[in-house]
Amino acid sequence: MPTSATELLSAAYNDADRTIDLRRRLHRHPEIGLHLPRTQELVLEAFADLPVEVSTGKSTSSVVGVLRGARPGPTYLLRGDMDALPVHEDTDLPFASEVPGAMHACGHDTHVAMLLGAARLLAERRDELSGQVVFMVQPGEEGFHGARFMLDEGLLDVVPEAPVSGAFALHISATLASGSINVRPGPMMAAADQWKILVRGRGGHASEPYTAADPIPVAAEIVLALQSMVTRRVDVFDPAVVTVAHIEAGSTTNVIPETAFLEGTIRTLSAERRAEVVAAVRRVATHVAEAHGLTVEFDQAEGYPVTVNDAGAAATVLDTAAELLGPPASRLMVFPLMGAEDFSYVLERVPGAIAFLGACPPGLDPQTAPGNHSNLVVFDEEPLPAGVALYARMAMQALAG
Ligand SMILES: [Zn+2]
Repeated sequence: MPTSATELLSAAYNDADRTIDLRRRLHRHPEIGLHLPRTQELVLEAFADLPVEVSTGKSTSSVVGVLRGARPGPTYLLRGDMDALPVHEDTDLPFASEVPGAMHACGHDTHVAMLLGAARLLAERRDELSGQVVFMVQPGEEGFHGARFMLDEGLLDVVPEAPVSGAFALHISATLASGSINVRPGPMMAAADQWKILVRGRGGHASEPYTAADPIPVAAEIVLALQSMVTRRVDVFDPAVVTVAHIEAGSTTNVIPETAFLEGTIRTLSAERRAEVVAAVRRVATHVAEAHGLTVEFDQAEGYPVTVNDAGAAATVLDTAAELLGPPASRLMVFPLMGAEDFSYVLERVPGAIAFLGACPPGLDPQTAPGNHSNLVVFDEEPLPAGVALYARMAMQALAG
């Protein structure tokens, strides 16, 4: 008899202690970036007693596990990211970070624990699988392009006879109702590009601005012109956000500085809009400066692309969540989020979806609870087994044969 949704969920709850224990061990020792030796060790240890073929990354601390089902078939990928943030933890959790200046403030510790829990459930049900499950345990999600390193190292072809043909990831959120699964078809998260502008003028005495070329009013005009550009030039149905997040110029009251520095982010939800807005930021800054006889140096760094959920995969997530956790837990998101996610690189290559698992702690209001990336964020552990079951169920359905 194939495992029913109810049986799978209760198996995940029966294993909750193991999931939570792994999560807390990871939480105590957060590591940042692409090289996470201690975290990798815990992941390898957790895979060790499972019938999973494990390999590690060449250029990063990534881990790839392959579980082979009883019969041949397609290959389905489940992702858990494992890096932390350069945030000093200020919660009073008994398992709070023991590393000053580092914290699992985005809950990636819970992702690893849930993914490993799912690996166990799936390993126990290999007879029911026609095909392979690939476990993608990735470092460097927080701005380090960790997924791209894994793709470059052949992640999607780790089973040569059956390249990965579908993918699923779960991300925890402290500001969504605990136990809810939230997803939408199409754009789910934004592209994030960074830019820097140096306005170059000519320094002088603050009493005689006409003998200098003051970059400060030009910088101020650029800030406002960028906001006008966004509201006047960008289609509201394919929106963009341009934020000037850092501005710096001058040193005292009686000196006109030579330069002013600005930097910020561009968030967009389509490739077309992305290219257009990046070009527009440069154009506006260049020409505002030129109007006043100054110049700018413009520098742009490409961040993650738009995370686009396949419509069919998003529908499967909603159906599966309703079946496992009851219809109220399955929530169609009306709007995307303007945050970014490097699972986007995987979803550019294979159809799939990323969903949010709500984990707002009891007693807190999702509207006001400290959110992901906060030094005070706390994730409810109660829904972790639900996440384990959802990961496992997505793979079981894809490989039902
Ligand atoms: Zn995250």
